[in-house]
Amino acid sequence: MAGLLTARVLADGFEAVTIIERDSLSDQLRTRKGVPQADHPHALLEAGRATLEDLFPGYGEDLISAGGLVIDALTDFQHYENGDFLADGSTRLPMYAASRPLFESITRRRISDFDGIDIRSNCQWMDYLADDEATSVDGVVVRTDDGTREEIAADLTVDATGRTSRTPSWLEEHGYVPPSTEEVRIDIAYSTALFERPPDDRRTFFVPASAPRTRGGAVFPVEADRWLVNMHGVHGDHPPTDFEGFAEFAGTLPVPDLKRLVDTQSWVGEEIDHYPFPSNRRYRYAELDRFPSGLVVIGDAITSFNPIYGQGMSVAALEALVLHHVLAAGDRTNIALSFFEQAEEVIDIAWNMAVGSDFGFPQTTGPKPRGTDFFNRYLSRLTSKAHTDAELREAFYRVITMEVPPTTLLRPGIVWQVLKPTPSDIGTGFPSRSRKQSKKTS
Ligand SMILES: Cc1cc2nc3c(=O)[nH]c(=O)nc-3n(C[C@H](O)[C@H](O)[C@H](O)COP(=O)(O)OP(=O)(O)OC[C@H]3O[C@@H](n4cnc5c(N)ncnc54)[C@H](O)[C@@H]3O)c2cc1C
Repeated sequence: MAGLLTARVLADGFEAVTIIERDSLSDQLRTRKGVPQADHPHALLEAGRATLEDLFPGYGEDLISAGGLVIDALTDFQHYENGDFLADGSTRLPMYAASRPLFESITRRRISDFDGIDIRSNCQWMDYLADDEATSVDGVVVRTDDGTREEIAADLTVDATGRTSRTPSWLEEHGYVPPSTEEVRIDIAYSTALFERPPDDRRTFFVPASAPRTRGGAVFPVEADRWLVNMHGVHGDHPPTDFEGFAEFAGTLPVPDLKRLVDTQSWVGEEIDHYPFPSNRRYRYAELDRFPSGLVVIGDAITSFNPIYGQGMSVAALEALVLHHVLAAGDRTNIALSFFEQAEEVIDIAWNMAVGSDFGFPQTTGPKPRGTDFFNRYLSRLTSKAHTDAELREAFYRVITMEVPPTTLLRPGIVWQVLKPTPSDIGTGFPSRSRKQSKKTS
């Protein structure tokens, strides 16, 4: 997705754009080797939805014509957090619901409408073309399906190869200081199965693992009258891959809805797909002083997040927009460093939300962003009040879908709603009271 969206923005500023893809590509909606995560639910957050619509006007209509759905993230999406489901919102927040292969196939189809973009499938990146000092990257060396080595020259090369990107080791091999890495270990695994869905039933459940509960699940409606039903567990409490074990795992969740659905709907397919994901990982490219000209890194190749928060495609889309702005500003001598610096703003927000939430588990290890514990305490209070408060649900959702920044949760009206004492606060010390007040309370 990062590569496709990047190609779209590059097409505005370059005569010809070539996408190099290792896999063979087909119009069939199937998971391919290079994107094994595609069997699992892929939520497209509001930031991603709006960006895809900007880049490809009518994207939503294309998706719906191909069988995708639009649900309302504030009412259809039943989110269990902190001991109960969140209240329905009172406004609307449209959300596309489709499988990852469908999102990708519509994006690829729209990309192929651009004259200047060529997609080379069965073509594997092997190396960058560089001068002796590697001061600039001047294209790529690829291997085609029949084993032929080919050099493709380019004014700008973008690494969108995902989490397994080899740019950090390439930099090191060519005398550069590689970016430092931050890893926040969550040790999550997904097991996902497809179930039949009555055409008009668009129920969507999200019961994420949330400290101290290490297990969670989700139900997402997708095209072809199916639900993707997901079980997940963090810090080693991984879901099984046999059907009986899957159903049993569903029965250990704090709400009966997922187990009921698994028990009553027909399971489609023969396998339960499993995906272990050890850690959030971030390469700190923005801290580098030296970087070859002519090269940029984007998407999961810079940062990959605990997938439970559904941020990856949206962050990739926002990064593509950042690249668009850097290119539009006209300075082509220093594209990478300007891009990395500006992309930090997007990444910081998503990273702090993802790892911040992961640090709710005491088992989570890695560098903890400043203010995490305080914000978690605040969010915990906010979500428990959002069980009955539509406005708080909406404020929370507009943040977690990356439509607006987390600072909006600190607006006076929201803060007041969150901190306003309730009868259950007596004796808890929260919200913090002046000494006089606490004395009075006690
Ligand atoms: C289990 C799971 C669930 C997820 N759920 C969500 C979700 O709900 N919402 C969401 O937004 N995101 C989700 N994500 C994240 C999302 O999949 C990615 O963030 C998103 O696809 C952007 O990644 P990318 O394009 O940078 O890399 P990828 O999607 O990994 O794509 C990399 C591409 O590069 C190709 N490639 C790799 N190496 C080479 C090479 N040497 N030569 C040529 N081609 C190569 C691959 O074949 C592939 O096509 C999830 C991830 C996982 C693991």
